[in-house]
Amino acid sequence: MPQRGAVLQYLIIGGGPAGLSAAATLRRMDEKSQITILAKEKVPPYSRIALPYLLTGEVEEEYLFLPIPEQINVALEQEVVEIDTRSQNVKTAAKKSYSYDRLLIATGAAPLRPDIEGSRLPFVFTVRDISDIRGVQKIIQTRKKGHAVIAGAGPVGLELCDALRRLGLSTTLVVSSSHVFSTMLDENSSAFLERRLAERGVEIRKRTDIVGIRESGVVLLSSGETQVCDTIIFGKGVAPALGFLSGSGVSSRQGILVNAHQATNVSNIYAAGDVAETWDLLYKDTRVNALWPVAFEQGRVAAYNMAGRPLAYGGSFPRNILRVFDTSIVAGGMAKREGSEVRVEERSDSYHRLVLDQGILKGFAFMGEINNQGFYADLLRRQLPVGSSATAILHGTYNYAQFIKKPQ
Ligand SMILES: Cc1cc2nc3c(=O)[nH]c(=O)nc-3n(C[C@H](O)[C@H](O)[C@H](O)COP(=O)(O)OP(=O)(O)OC[C@H]3O[C@@H](n4cnc5c(N)ncnc54)[C@H](O)[C@@H]3O)c2cc1C
Repeated sequence: MPQRGAVLQYLIIGGGPAGLSAAATLRRMDEKSQITILAKEKVPPYSRIALPYLLTGEVEEEYLFLPIPEQINVALEQEVVEIDTRSQNVKTAAKKSYSYDRLLIATGAAPLRPDIEGSRLPFVFTVRDISDIRGVQKIIQTRKKGHAVIAGAGPVGLELCDALRRLGLSTTLVVSSSHVFSTMLDENSSAFLERRLAERGVEIRKRTDIVGIRESGVVLLSSGETQVCDTIIFGKGVAPALGFLSGSGVSSRQGILVNAHQATNVSNIYAAGDVAETWDLLYKDTRVNALWPVAFEQGRVAAYNMAGRPLAYGGSFPRNILRVFDTSIVAGGMAKREGSEVRVEERSDSYHRLVLDQGILKGFAFMGEINNQGFYADLLRRQLPVGSSATAILHGTYNYAQFIKKPQ
């Protein structure tokens, strides 16, 4: 634990929400110490969430940039390639080295791109950075719109599909599983969404994968079919960005392993955000819930512990909120789990699914009308029995005021 008043070198790798919230929290607690953020990109930290809107032109690039907390040194184009835990030093690809008393790894995640023929062709993309969006826009301009293939129908794939349709491209979704958004939705919930997509002209090819891409734009599918296109986007998930850790002794599984204080197994090194594997309140194991608010909160908790003020992280759970093709979707917790306590209400314009276990809310998927979803997420977090209120939750009419009046 640092001595009160000691001047420390806090080094943060990564300028996403985890790194920025850690920096802001450290600065608030400690006016004197040095706080440095290393980020590998050329441009200052920005919001990835808004990238689909940058693609459509609804948001200008200048509005993407995030506020940098005061008196923080941000070193851009500093990709960390090595951590020497003995000398407490990190090295970057630009051949600079930075020492630390406390280090936070907040490098986020990198999108998955399959190692198949043609996956590096200039019209093939993943979307994580501003430069990815600029690449897609260039292709659309030079090829005069055309046809786009999106591999993967998770939240990012769906948002990009919506954005490309609005830009006037025709689109095909290529989905490995039996239905779209299969990370969170069961097949029946997904059918509601698939109807919306079909109404908007989106072609969906299920139970198939892209196995090769030709320079001519021909996409080869594992089903034996082909599809001609002008651009391809892989939206098949992300993997924690931890390649630079080899030889450091920092333990990882899917992500970097941390304790409740966001501390790794190596002293003075912490991790937060998409790169860290932390406690999931519903699944009761450690996993990576790659979400903006989760990263932000973990960065804050890490900062407290780095500054010697013990604070435990409360845990997270999966939760996606998006609006695609004019349909609002929110799915939280174990939304696709089957069982006797599953309740479904389907109307022409909405679909609601609740998953309960002995009267306790374990997951929900709402599409169309999504009233009170913030409160239902809070019920998931609290894990209280919802008993007689389940029907009202299913209808979307149970709200915080009713809960306060008559808690379960
Ligand atoms: C298109 C898109 C839409 C999304 N929509 C949502 C949404 O609606 N809701 C939601 O909750 N989440 C959404 N997310 C996910 C959300 O953006 C992430 O969960 C969040 O950004 C994670 O924050 P982070 O700080 O852990 O990592 P990141 O935001 O990924 O930041 C990582 C930082 O580390 C830097 N870095 C990486 N490697 C190195 C290295 N070796 N050396 C130096 N610097 C390095 C990067 O340059 C970056 O500054 C979306 C993501 C994308 C791509």
